[in-house]
Amino acid sequence: MLAILHPDTPLDSDAYRQTLHFLEHLPGVSVKVHEVEGAVQRLTELYLLGDTKSLDKDEIEALPAVERVIRISDDYRILGRHRDDQRQSGFTYNGVEFSQNNLNLFAGLCAVDNQEHVDIMMRELAAHGQHCTRMGAYKPRTNPYSFQGHGKSCLPWVFETAGKHDIRVIAMEITHESHIEEIDECLEKLGRPTGVMLQVGTRNTQNFELLKAIGRQKTYPVLLKRGFGITLNESLNAAEYLASEGNANVVFCLRGMKTDAGSPHRNMVDFAHVPTVKRLTRMPVCIDPSHSVGSRDAAPDGIPDVMHATAQGVVAGANMVLVDFHPRPEKALVDGPQALLMEELPAYLEDVNQCHQLWKKRQEIYRKTGVTATT
Ligand code: PEP
Ligand code: MN
Repeated sequence: MLAILHPDTPLDSDAYRQTLHFLEHLPGVSVKVHEVEGAVQRLTELYLLGDTKSLDKDEIEALPAVERVIRISDDYRILGRHRDDQRQSGFTYNGVEFSQNNLNLFAGLCAVDNQEHVDIMMRELAAHGQHCTRMGAYKPRTNPYSFQGHGKSCLPWVFETAGKHDIRVIAMEITHESHIEEIDECLEKLGRPTGVMLQVGTRNTQNFELLKAIGRQKTYPVLLKRGFGITLNESLNAAEYLASEGNANVVFCLRGMKTDAGSPHRNMVDFAHVPTVKRLTRMPVCIDPSHSVGSRDAAPDGIPDVMHATAQGVVAGANMVLVDFHPRPEKALVDGPQALLMEELPAYLEDVNQCHQLWKKRQEIYRKTGVTATT
């Protein structure tokens, strides 16, 4: 059961003390406090865990600090959607809104290689009105002898270049909790010219200690990749780990499933799950067509498979697209064969935008039928 308190309830008020005192003395029930820092107000949510079946909803709703009570299922307590649950989805970070209704494009380098390529990439994005990008500094590689990313050493020039081009959010994978501090120290030293969304890669979806460490900090939102060989439920529970530690600013990313059945694509594209994740949880949903498809191959219609896969996800309501571009893919140190070219950026943006508009029009078609969605 979840008790949502009146917005901005002071934690030192009598109303709060009395409410907490009552709830903490319910037999067989423990209370977990979760703070939601919104753009205009702070919300305190009290999760009642344990033997809550016999609790009287009206009695708890009558407590002085409580605004409303929601009965929640056991799954995805914080990030999930529950019956009569009108809680908002998403969050705003560094001036960029992430929700289940809008769309942000994160085109960029799979791996940071040199300053020139980072500058070209960010300049082109800025020229096309984009404020987000992807930049890999810590690269988890299958082969221990492959390039592992420049790590901490590239952060200063990546962040400074981002600031120069008004890039506000960089999706950056981290593979160890020490990387959070490296990123934080560097940003702080530079006066925070940009922001970072911490990316958890598919190989780390169930690295619970890493998830807990990322969840304990609230400075940076998180992009959690779906695990490539586990169920959707297991990956959604991984997202809940972040929220249960305190950070519910999570975007969930579909990136394809590892199976030979997906061949010749690198992974089996799983973008039919975009609306499913939005139905089960309040997280904005991202798609990664580059790591799903894995090549620049094009269909006879002249449209590359990466674009086709992107269209599938965006028409289905995706809220973020993480996609590899590179000014010189043949020189890229990681994943060059799947990188799109800078010349392809304008067409890609137009395609993505049209697909997003089509998703909105599709909602209109179904709204007219008057049939309400089941959740
Ligand atoms: C990436 O986005 O660079 C990446 C390594 O993706 P994934 O974890 O999905 O393989
Ligand atoms: Mn990659």
